[in-house]
Amino acid sequence: MLQIDPFANAMQITVADENNLFLVKEDDGFILIDTAVDAPEIDDIIGMIENSELPLKAIVITHSHDDHLGGLVKFKEAFSETPLLFSRREYELVLKTELLASDKQVPLKEGIPDSLPYEPDFLLEEGDKVGELEVLFTPGHTPGHITLFHPFHRYLLVGDVMQTLGGAAICGVHRDAFPKPARLNWDLAQSIDVVHRFLTLEPMFIGTGHGDVMRNAMEVLPETIEEANLVLAVTK
Ligand SMILES: [Zn+2]
Repeated sequence: MLQIDPFANAMQITVADENNLFLVKEDDGFILIDTAVDAPEIDDIIGMIENSELPLKAIVITHSHDDHLGGLVKFKEAFSETPLLFSRREYELVLKTELLASDKQVPLKEGIPDSLPYEPDFLLEEGDKVGELEVLFTPGHTPGHITLFHPFHRYLLVGDVMQTLGGAAICGVHRDAFPKPARLNWDLAQSIDVVHRFLTLEPMFIGTGHGDVMRNAMEVLPETIEEANLVLAVTK
């Protein structure tokens, strides 16, 4: 049984207990955000899309960590015509794992792969649109991380800018129940700035890479900023 949590025109599907991907349903097809890990549930998700009346019109990846890319090969094998959309800055980082002058000069962390299993068909930047979704450039967890925002339904699909598994947090703030995002996190300070921006968008829902859908974002976001600022203050 797939673990599915629907909201607005999207659904969160949880793979191998702790990794989320998102399917956004539009009139002319589904958009897949992230691919979680390679696990048996991926076959069930592919079957669900194939049994629907709708095509899979795009695969979008928020960032290059393996728990967001792992299911990609299976999806591309099943939907070979579906374009892969990847962050332009994150793709540059995969091709050459080094900082650019335009990046904040914070040392890189491990976890950036040196290749992708498929070449991206389109490279995304701030302001691009994927169907009804808007692309936000949200560096911090990785230098090229992107977030998807639905302006009508007011939800954000934030990858690992935030997690809810183990308690809502900006990734970089440690959670015992799921420490991986904090371990691989590049720069917490930039993610705090990003979450300040999320607040200005007045989101109704936030879908994170790991954990439940956040349904009271406007209450939770200020608390996560406050905690992250404290963590930053003691680690300086
Ligand atoms: Zn990550």
